[in-house]
Amino acid sequence: MNKLAQLDQQFVWHPFTQMRDWLRREPIVVTGGKGAVLHDAKGREYLDANSSIWTNLHGHQHPKMNAAIERQLKKISHSSALGFANEPASLLAEKLVRIANNKPAGQARASHNKTKRGATSNAAPELNKVFFSDDGSTALEVALKLAYEYTRRTRGNLAGRTSSRAVQPRFLSLDGAYHGDTIGAVSLGHVDLFHKAYGGMLFQTDKVMSPYCYRCPFNRAQPERTDARKYRKCNWECVGKVEQKFSTRKKTGNPYAAFVFEPLMQGAAGMIPQPSGWLGQVTEIARAHGALLIADEVMTGFGRTGVTCHVDDKAIAKIADQPAAAKLFATARVGLAPDFLCVAKGLTGGYLPMAATLTTRKIFNAFLGEYEELKTFFHGHSFTGNQLGAAAALASLEILQTRQSVRQRARLQGILHQELQSLWTLPTIGDIRQVGLVAGIELVKSWRTREPFALCERAGIRVCEAMAKRGVLTRPVGNVIVLMPPYCTTRAQLHKMVSALADSVAEFSKTRQT
Ligand SMILES: *Cc1c(COP(=O)(O)O)cnc(C)c1O
Repeated sequence: MNKLAQLDQQFVWHPFTQMRDWLRREPIVVTGGKGAVLHDAKGREYLDANSSIWTNLHGHQHPKMNAAIERQLKKISHSSALGFANEPASLLAEKLVRIANNKPAGQARASHNKTKRGATSNAAPELNKVFFSDDGSTALEVALKLAYEYTRRTRGNLAGRTSSRAVQPRFLSLDGAYHGDTIGAVSLGHVDLFHKAYGGMLFQTDKVMSPYCYRCPFNRAQPERTDARKYRKCNWECVGKVEQKFSTRKKTGNPYAAFVFEPLMQGAAGMIPQPSGWLGQVTEIARAHGALLIADEVMTGFGRTGVTCHVDDKAIAKIADQPAAAKLFATARVGLAPDFLCVAKGLTGGYLPMAATLTTRKIFNAFLGEYEELKTFFHGHSFTGNQLGAAAALASLEILQTRQSVRQRARLQGILHQELQSLWTLPTIGDIRQVGLVAGIELVKSWRTREPFALCERAGIRVCEAMAKRGVLTRPVGNVIVLMPPYCTTRAQLHKMVSALADSVAEFSKTRQT
């Protein structure tokens, strides 16, 4: 066995991994990468088909990314944000604010001007403050704590009372939601497995059905060989469920500080895409009832959800020239302005751990006061605003905004769509859901019945193992295979990813029958 693999098995405990299974087999030791390709200690090559767990954007060792980090390295790697500002974090905050609000260069600063008196209070909020942290979980913790404290301070006053309901604001999130692994983030999520394990440590949050068309009990459509969103037959019961959550407690009013969601597609819940129109309707309901909106764009951010809905070669040339091309967030793509925008994974192009929580001046102002009033936001991390991370993020954003990158993403999205169509011929593929540059492929016993594989068959895991043998690396979410290629992936590489998936599914179907 490779020496590094040996050391790993002796000393390392891996995340989300049954270590007994891990210790049975020699692990792949990644030693390098370039573009969409990873190299291992045995000299083998693999395609990084899930962008190193959804983090990588432009490929490994992108010359501009490397150069930016090296440039920063020669200045300083890290100094504390407790007490000091720094160069790349200041620049990055300005850039994130501008991009999040879809503004061209130089306009982010305009928001310093006081809003005119009489301006409508329900105008779309503008994100203009950035709180840096380290990963997706902490980005969500920050949003949670801010929303909680903001609501306690403002709603209690507004109601002129301090009843426990007014000062104990709750959170509403989607069924199956995953928002990270720290205690607040797990509380917010609704993955039964985690709630069973840590229930006693968590605080109560409410869940509402997510718009999972393929497995929706209200969808009366028979299965077809296309994305379930396209042939659903329902009356938007999922939207009604959200309305119910907010309106059942007429006397006490809206109990929720915030509605938390992943826009356009829920990732770790199983790559569950939202039918067109759902997001707008449910966020309107939440807002109408006075709840804040927390958008978790840890997975969807930075162009992952695509460039535009339908792409052909002529359209690509046009898109690249539109300001819309700068719409790097799923919320911005559908014209939604949340009160909190949480980003991590792709923020640094997947090169370094860093996260950010963007929020509005309204939230920020609720934490202003005299020192002794103790209105300070008491939260922070050692590496908040880390310079290397911020430098990487600045370089990544610069690449994302080039015409070449927009074209590349639009083209890749089209190729992904074409390639995925070949999978419909496989009877054990029930649903193929693509949103931009992400795809979830749901394995079932038979597409005609939608019957899922039993847990013990480990269908998703086995298909991914078979894909690894074919030189393609990804991880499943249950029985959903994830394809999330780095943006630099070539047509040939994408073809290999999808054909390895097809061959592996066919192999799995054959072996389970014999
Ligand atoms: C990965 C992820 C998180 C957690 O991010 P970490 O960096 O792993 O803590 C939160 N929300 C979403 C949507 C994610 O995909």
